[in-house]
Amino acid sequence: MREIKYEDIVKSVKAMVMHTATHLPEDALNAIKKAYEEEESEVAKSVLKQILDNAKLAADEDRPLCQDTGLAVYFVKVGEDVKVVGGSLKKAINEATEQAYKEGYLRASTCECFDRHNLKDEVGYNLPAVIHFDIVEGDKIDIEYAAKGGGSENVSRATVLAPAQGKEGIKNFVKEVISNAGPNPCPPIIVGVGIGGTFEVAAKSSKHALFREAGSENPDPVLNEFEKEILEELNKLTKNCHLCNLSKTRTNVVFGEGNPNATLMFVGEAPGRDEDLQGRPFVGRSGEMLTKMIENVLFLKRSDIYIANIIKCRPPQNRDPEVEEVDACKGYLLEQIEIIKPKIIVTLGRIAFRYLFNDTTPITKARGKMYDFNGIKVIPTYHPSYLLRNPSKKKEAMVDLKFIKEFL
Ligand code: SF4
Repeated sequence: MREIKYEDIVKSVKAMVMHTATHLPEDALNAIKKAYEEEESEVAKSVLKQILDNAKLAADEDRPLCQDTGLAVYFVKVGEDVKVVGGSLKKAINEATEQAYKEGYLRASTCECFDRHNLKDEVGYNLPAVIHFDIVEGDKIDIEYAAKGGGSENVSRATVLAPAQGKEGIKNFVKEVISNAGPNPCPPIIVGVGIGGTFEVAAKSSKHALFREAGSENPDPVLNEFEKEILEELNKLTKNCHLCNLSKTRTNVVFGEGNPNATLMFVGEAPGRDEDLQGRPFVGRSGEMLTKMIENVLFLKRSDIYIANIIKCRPPQNRDPEVEEVDACKGYLLEQIEIIKPKIIVTLGRIAFRYLFNDTTPITKARGKMYDFNGIKVIPTYHPSYLLRNPSKKKEAMVDLKFIKEFL
């Protein structure tokens, strides 16, 4: 029987936990680098670049990669011919977790289920760790560790399908879970899928699937083929959000376009017919008007600006967006603002102003004034399509644009 000292386990596990908090694994780093090289969207590219810069800083300075340093989750294979001396294996792993989280200045996230108080003073700092033990042949102990963040944990799901639902049922369930998760688990997302056994076995193996090397192929040819089918459909999903009913009538999601480092951001209401057909914001007649406003009054290029809408899919017959649609979609806009960090946002028309601020002041009264949105200056003005219908209002729009120009 091989003996392993309790304190050696504490030392090794502690080092692993601290290293994991500050270093992205090589396979994840390579996958993000590859995604950065292949990405076509400027905004998505800039997000991937930020993740890579953040990973480098964290590794260089030994600082946590994220403020959410996760719940400690372990998968432990214990050989039948090994004995831990000086204490139990479970106690050693918990002690190592506590030491690593305290000494590494990592956040303790473990809370009591109902009143949500943090358990650090009574159970231990970020304890208890979640440990899955498995007894195997041999004289080794193999420990895998994941710092499982709340954003991805909260959107995890398990289900029991009827046998007749087959592979299609599995595929549809995975798509539904990912679609409902939306951008809540911080992208890029690694999806673990566990199939079969019982309810708890499927859930556990879905978590263990996350340990597989990113980009690696499933050794089972049938599952490998199935994974590729699911991945292809998931990748289509990211361009095809279904969080509200507008997904049923739109042609394209119109996410936004322009300079991801823009000082100035325009936010309109929703895509119209031309935008829906082309998948780009502000094309057609109102787009021409907006471009003229940018080029002839602000003396900027359209490509210098970032342009988006409150909602990303066209409402049928260009009706006003409904509150539920805005609620479902607004998170995308808030993320765009967070990423671009413009100095000034110009809201175009009453809907954009109303839903950014939850303020129903008519645009005729709100326009041309300065507002604050999380430290960003916001100046509302008329929507270009309103100006096309009411040319007499162009003079007021001109005054607003000159006001905006003063802050550029
Ligand atoms: S409007 Fe927004 S939330 Fe609704 S389907 Fe389109 S992208 Fe998704």
